Amino acid sequence: MKKISILGSTGSIGVAALDIISRNPELFKVVALAAGTNINRLAAQVEKFRPKMVSVADASTARKLKDLVGRKTKIMAGAEGAMECAAHPDANLTLSAMVGAAGLPPTLAAVYAGKNVALANKETLVAAGGLVMREARKRKVKIIPVDSEHSAIFQCLRGEKMKTVRRLILTSSGGPFLRAAIADMEKVTPEQALKHPNWNMGPKITVDSATMMNKGLEVIEARWLFNLPPEKIDVVAHPQSVIHSMVEFHDSSVMAQMGLPDMRTPISFALGYPERTKLDLTSLDLATMGTLTFEKPDLARFPALALAYEAMRIGGSAPAALNAANEVAVEAFLNGRIGFLDIARLVEKTLNEHKPAPIKTLADALLTDQWARARAREFASNGASRQ
Ligand code: NDP
Repeated sequence: MKKISILGSTGSIGVAALDIISRNPELFKVVALAAGTNINRLAAQVEKFRPKMVSVADASTARKLKDLVGRKTKIMAGAEGAMECAAHPDANLTLSAMVGAAGLPPTLAAVYAGKNVALANKETLVAAGGLVMREARKRKVKIIPVDSEHSAIFQCLRGEKMKTVRRLILTSSGGPFLRAAIADMEKVTPEQALKHPNWNMGPKITVDSATMMNKGLEVIEARWLFNLPPEKIDVVAHPQSVIHSMVEFHDSSVMAQMGLPDMRTPISFALGYPERTKLDLTSLDLATMGTLTFEKPDLARFPALALAYEAMRIGGSAPAALNAANEVAVEAFLNGRIGFLDIARLVEKTLNEHKPAPIKTLADALLTDQWARARAREFASNGASRQ
């Protein structure tokens, strides 16, 4: 029986994971849930799954939650609360599915406590991949990817030797603006950016998909998960989102993993690993689909992807700065304070000013995160990202 702590239980990944868990009570049990501020949804989850501990974003939200749930569940708050949930003594698997760098401290807490991690929160590895993977190796903790691309690669690599890998090929849907003209992208509204053609996800990752920063973050995530240098990780746009990613081996053989654009498949793979969990989903109908297409991403129209490669090559704290600036920029875009193309401009300005340093501890990562957020907020409030 897998005893699971879920970080981000009220989000898109968290809800999908709980759906899988509720359909497989003989395989999975929930021991802790951490969320932000959606207490109505969390209270319903507490009622249904009876976790021993829950945590919310802050103390005042915790007080409101207390009025909605019984006394049997321990209620915690803030980063410490999420860290306690992540490292709950009864858990043997922590699903890391909070959004943003806020997911780093609890994910690292799970690793330090020796819990295997099903990792959706890519920002954790972007901000501190070297640190997290090193600490995981020391404790023989497994980091099992949830992101569909990394799950695909993980599955293609089963039984293979890493020294035979020539390169990883991450596929990208290209988002809603794959072929849009730059002049039109300048005018994109939050409503347009939040309409992903294939996947139904939380707002931050949906905007990241539209700018292709999501693919950049995934390239960095892949770099750490599979311990490969940037030049061995390629991206190809594949608008149908049927092939979730590929691995090319040194005999030129290419393995691909395909599936429906439904996160329940990679989530269930990570929760059940090394076993596959039976899911009641429809089959992939390739004949109806007809054609699968591939194209090179246009870095001139999607500079965020190039910026992520650049940050990865610089190394040290540069990816953490890129990530924090992007979080600020996406929020500013969603609040109507900057334009769509300003997101990458703002990230670039922050990155240009950043002085990279090694990330040896959580404190190093948080320091960079704070610096980059503050700088990016200044740029956003000056409306200066366009200069
Ligand atoms: P959502 O926005 O749907 O959910 C985010 C979750 O994080 C919510 O439960 C939210 O709580 C919680 N949260 C936010 N801030 C805090 C905080 N400070 N403390 C505690 N909890 C917090 O995001 P997604 O589910 O879409 O994405 C989650 C992660 O998974 C991201 O890193 C994303 O990149 C990754 N991912 C997502 C995919 C998808 O299909 N959605 C695919 C692959 C990766 P609340 O709502 O209660 O405030």
